[in-house]
Amino acid sequence: MTARILVVDDNPANVRLLEAKLSAEYFEVVTATSGATALESIDDTKPDIVLLDVMMPGMNGIEVCKRLKADASTHHIPIIMVTALDQLEDRVRGLDAGADDFLTKPINDVSLFCRIKSLVRLKMLSDELRARAASSEVMGLLPPAANMADARPGKVLAIDGRASFLERVKTALAAKHEVTTMLDPAPSLAHLAETPVPYELIIVNLDEGQFDGLRLCSQLKSLERTRQVPILIVVAPDDQPRLLRALDMGINDYIVRPIDRLELLARVNTQVRRSRYAEQLRLSVQASLELAVTDSLTGLYNRRYMETHLSHLMEHSINRGKPLSVLAIDVDFFKPINDAHGHDAGDKVLQELASRMQDSIRNVDMACRVGGEEFTVILPATDIETAKKIAERVRNSVSSRPFPVSAGPGVVSVTVSIGVAALAGPRDTFEDFLKRADQALYAAKRGGRNRVTLAAA
Ligand code: GH3
Ligand code: MG
Ligand code: MG
Repeated sequence: MTARILVVDDNPANVRLLEAKLSAEYFEVVTATSGATALESIDDTKPDIVLLDVMMPGMNGIEVCKRLKADASTHHIPIIMVTALDQLEDRVRGLDAGADDFLTKPINDVSLFCRIKSLVRLKMLSDELRARAASSEVMGLLPPAANMADARPGKVLAIDGRASFLERVKTALAAKHEVTTMLDPAPSLAHLAETPVPYELIIVNLDEGQFDGLRLCSQLKSLERTRQVPILIVVAPDDQPRLLRALDMGINDYIVRPIDRLELLARVNTQVRRSRYAEQLRLSVQASLELAVTDSLTGLYNRRYMETHLSHLMEHSINRGKPLSVLAIDVDFFKPINDAHGHDAGDKVLQELASRMQDSIRNVDMACRVGGEEFTVILPATDIETAKKIAERVRNSVSSRPFPVSAGPGVVSVTVSIGVAALAGPRDTFEDFLKRADQALYAAKRGGRNRVTLAAA
């Protein structure tokens, strides 16, 4: 993982030290020695993360943070505030200004790299989402709650053997998040394995207590339902070995005891946000996959998907010695319907037709819109005689009731012609198969329309 990091500090020695540490880990480093120069250069440098010293003459870090978070072109860039250990007041103000994380001086390497990596991951997710939002209609298909500025409380699970610890966590987060607590990891694992993951973050106390926190973390990271949920651990200040093992395991962030309430809140906010970005991304990938295989007017599968699916089914049917049939369906005299009632009315007819078609076939059958007013229905494990009956059912569902064409009482009679073909054997090709169905369809048209014709065997 690499990223460009902007280091802002008025002390050149501090800048050089951080630059050396970060470059050694292959991060790209850009620097600024005042708030004003940082703001000026940010459009050119486009950093992935800003490491921002709070105490600077002129414009201090809090002010720089406020300005970056107020500007739409920079507000998505994560900011880590660097404060002195005793500057509690600065942390409050930093958090209010929108800072994403804190580091205290002198900066410890484990915390520096853990925080940077965590925020780089977050930034990569948010960049990906921003790119998708900008470039596609997919975001429009997402539920309204799933947008970037999301103030809903996070769903957090805290697990520890001590009630007093759990109470403290609950109190620290109460204003912004919904915290569920659990004293015993065994039932929590059972609970997590059963419910469709209701949590956006899990907090585990790694203290030597009644249970093995490290084992719990590794179980959480391996369970299908919890694998994606970020984990924040709480460690004792001298417990470097277990902290490093937990980081190796892939836990997402840590906090050292005694817990600083504000630090905990900042870290929880970041991880909850990460959870949400990841979830939105998953939804958007799913939506674009659906867009790629379905037709937007009718919601039926499109031609491309039908072709892939049909070739798989042909192979499958031949291997198992099962029959397979297809229907080629075309609306009769559709052009006059468009001409008389308008294109929108024509679209409505196609939608209604798709829904009647779906209602006339089984779940395993697949209806596809392969052209303007042309459809294909694939009927697995169906011989030609049964396919003919299904085709008659489809034909009848269309011709038996007129179609509404406008908001008022206007209706129009619609009929379809259908050609039926069955898979001929191991040497049958996909093109020949569909062609036989099409020829049967033309025969139905020539025969007077509103009818079903079987392909010659
Ligand atoms: P036939 O019985 O011979 O099939 O006659 P037809 O009028 O249905 O056939 P033709 O192929 O001449 O016309 C098909 C018409 O379907 C022409 C086109 O304007 C219309 N059409 C194609 N796609 C759409 C669509 O998405 N929406 C609407 N409203 N009309 C469409
Ligand atoms: Mg037609
Ligand atoms: Mg046609």
